[in-house]
Amino acid sequence: MENQVYLASNERYAKMSSIYNRCGRSGVLLPKVSLGFWHNFGADAPYERSRAITRFAFDHGITHFDFANNYGVPAGSAETTFGRLMDDDFRPYRDELFISSKAGYLMWDGPYGEWGSRKYLMSSLDQSLKRMHLDYVDLFYSHRYDPNTPIEETLQALVDIVRMGKALYVGISNWPLEQLRLGAKYLKEHDVPLLIYQGRLNMLNREPIEEGILDFCREEGIGFIAYSPLAQGLLTDRYLDGIPADSRMAKEHFLTSDRRTPELLDYLHQLEAQAKASGRTIAQEALQWVLDQQGVTSVLVGASSVEQLKNNIAILG
Ligand code: NDP
Repeated sequence: MENQVYLASNERYAKMSSIYNRCGRSGVLLPKVSLGFWHNFGADAPYERSRAITRFAFDHGITHFDFANNYGVPAGSAETTFGRLMDDDFRPYRDELFISSKAGYLMWDGPYGEWGSRKYLMSSLDQSLKRMHLDYVDLFYSHRYDPNTPIEETLQALVDIVRMGKALYVGISNWPLEQLRLGAKYLKEHDVPLLIYQGRLNMLNREPIEEGILDFCREEGIGFIAYSPLAQGLLTDRYLDGIPADSRMAKEHFLTSDRRTPELLDYLHQLEAQAKASGRTIAQEALQWVLDQQGVTSVLVGASSVEQLKNNIAILG
């Protein structure tokens, strides 16, 4: 693959109507399944595998790739991998891609390397653009709410980032409902309407529904993108028979083995039976459940192989 010029599949937009959803009441269409670069795309992952997964996604109409400043091991290296992918394969397709990044969590030492100050958000986005070899991102998020920074400072930084042309749209991730309401109002009043909210939603974690966030987004015409829709791999067949050595759980960091309880395995066996009855895999059943929630624009999946992604996007028909 190394020396072959990449030509994207001519079939990539053949199934437009089954692949895309409108993002809230905006002009943007997003694929119902988007690809996240949190794990499996850093300097610790084989470049050619990352490249194969990314090419496969784009060849199948998956136009939205999601990043944050700190993704990859070491932090930032997923964006660096993408910069290389831009140079090697995707530069001719820049206008067909919808690239997001975020800032909020710890990225560098000292007082300006995390949370929600204007100083941190602006500097972090500049660093992300350099790593990704991009002039602008399509979407920039505040990755978490900062209770110690005036909310107006964070929001005005988002407004100004759009005005400066460094992002086309802004998003909010992981903010509580009350602050989300204030944020959406502020952004609307400053003519930079909130495009999308990113929150964790899957069959095992329904907080955005229970807390009213999904309803709020739907009523306000804000899109909703669900991260970890497979609960980091728990809602797949990955852990049915043990903990594979190459799995996220084997690393015992973000997904620890204490999550693999007898209750979870019972639940998975029931889900497997339900999935089989409808001709699906457990992962497909779990993704479809999220997509079926009213107001959900897209499920944001991770993948460590082309096979996994292939399995996941099969729900698009
Ligand atoms: P998922 O819940 O989709 O989990 C992905 C993992 O599940 C894969 O890495 C793989 O595990 C396993 N998997 C995926 N498909 C299959 C399959 N078909 N069969 C078997 N196993 C499968 O999502 P993530 O937790 O990776 O999150 C997705 C994205 O969401 C992130 O990349 C990021 O962009 C975003 N995110 C945002 C957050 C935020 O705070 N805003 C927080 C977390 C994520 P394995 O690697 O072990 O093979």
